[in-house]
Amino acid sequence: MDRPVRVAIVGSGPSGMYAADALTSQDDIAVSVDIIDRLPSPFGLVRYGVAPDHVSIRSVRDTLDKVLDKPGVRFIGNVEVGSDLTLGQLREFYDAIILTYGASRDRALGIPGEDLPGSIAATDFVNWYTGHPDMPPDAFVDVLQQSRSIAVIGVGNVAVDVTRVLAKAPSEIDWTDMPQHVLDALRESVVTDVHVIGRRGPAQATWTTKELRELGELEQTRVIVAEGGDATDPASRQAATDKAVARNVAVIDEWAQRQDDSRSHTIHLHFRCRPVEILGASRVEGLVVERTELDEDGQAQGTGETHVIAVDAVIRSVGYRGTALEGVPFDERRNVIPNIDGRVVDNGVAVPGLYVAGWIKRGPTGIIGTNKKDAVQTVACLLEDAAAPGFRTATNPSEAAVDAIVGAAAVNESGWRRIDAAERALGATRGRDRTTLWSRDDLLAAARS
Ligand SMILES: Cc1cc2nc3c(=O)[nH]c(=O)nc-3n(C[C@H](O)[C@H](O)[C@H](O)COP(=O)(O)OP(=O)(O)OC[C@H]3O[C@@H](n4cnc5c(N)ncnc54)[C@H](O)[C@@H]3O)c2cc1C
Repeated sequence: MDRPVRVAIVGSGPSGMYAADALTSQDDIAVSVDIIDRLPSPFGLVRYGVAPDHVSIRSVRDTLDKVLDKPGVRFIGNVEVGSDLTLGQLREFYDAIILTYGASRDRALGIPGEDLPGSIAATDFVNWYTGHPDMPPDAFVDVLQQSRSIAVIGVGNVAVDVTRVLAKAPSEIDWTDMPQHVLDALRESVVTDVHVIGRRGPAQATWTTKELRELGELEQTRVIVAEGGDATDPASRQAATDKAVARNVAVIDEWAQRQDDSRSHTIHLHFRCRPVEILGASRVEGLVVERTELDEDGQAQGTGETHVIAVDAVIRSVGYRGTALEGVPFDERRNVIPNIDGRVVDNGVAVPGLYVAGWIKRGPTGIIGTNKKDAVQTVACLLEDAAAPGFRTATNPSEAAVDAIVGAAAVNESGWRRIDAAERALGATRGRDRTTLWSRDDLLAAARS
């Protein structure tokens, strides 16, 4: 009888976990699956992206966690593919590799002043407040203690998350699993005004209504529509024939008509404003925006008319992008791994044994559930290929061989369970469900305790 097909999944975010689940939910082909992640903890952006105050969405990790209990599935955390383990080594140990390493870099705005101190990538700010080990605890303490006014550039759900975290009162957030140093820094924050900047109008924003509405329900913060909030131009009226867009437009219209209230903090929504320069001598002092008009396709066209929004910091939330992995084809224009239905292709030709799923396959789009369908499609291709003769190409297909390379540095599923228990225990001492351990040393100490 053939030995099980050995599969390495690179990345334990939703797409990696869903791929492992799909591989082990079928009986046609025996498989053994190693899920490798550069971090000691699994679940990718479900842990280090989804906002800590969105508890029901974060609870997806309970579902993903069950995959780690399945027979034939191993977790190998704290091992980075590309440095700790090369693609060549993976080829030795596994017959197939599914790349699910996400798209975790920020996109650049490409405007002067972008590199000034106080100009921050949303990816970094999100990593900080979710306790990502790559982000030092004091990364944004100064910014929060020195900035009364912050611009958030972008009108998608990540921009909404960032705005909400900045605008919430401490009591609205201190029950979450954010690391203690983050909660302390947010409590000491002097930010009173958040300016959300969108190039186009309310009908073109990509946020979802539920997330948008939350901004209007905060304890200490009101929302005002500062400029460009009407959606009466032909392109916006056309866009608003879509029900979801119409709901967003209705929320903005309601805010535009709201009477002033006595809340101490303000979210200012600026539509039809294109950032053209971040001002400042040694740190951010303002943001220059150019008014835009929408053409008939709903695209923003500059009018040449500029004004300055006085801010002390800028958070750039204009999208995530994938990066290349050495030895793997990469589409530099779309920042994804080229593929057909999940089979990696090089100049249109399938690379044997190499597959891709999730954000690094299709770009940073969709909701968590989108990655399930996506991973299932990829796994279907893999299983179809595996049914053909000659698929088992690994020259050293043993778990022990992998373990000998990754050694004691790796965190297995039992190690992760111990991290999980340590975080719950730490949370309990503070009356919370969990407190995230942020430092790699603490995570590894908990894994080995
Ligand atoms: C800030 C933010 C908030 C979000 N909020 C929501 C939400 O509320 N609801 C929703 O439905 N969706 C949300 N999403 C989208 C959702 O998180 C993504 O759809 C999903 O996480 C993508 O899954 P993925 O597995 O492709 O990538 P990821 O989740 O990014 O997982 C990639 C994994 O690969 C690992 N990795 C990277 N490089 C390597 C390497 N070289 N070697 C080994 N491992 C590696 C990473 O550590 C990570 O664990 C949000 C996204 C962001 C950025």
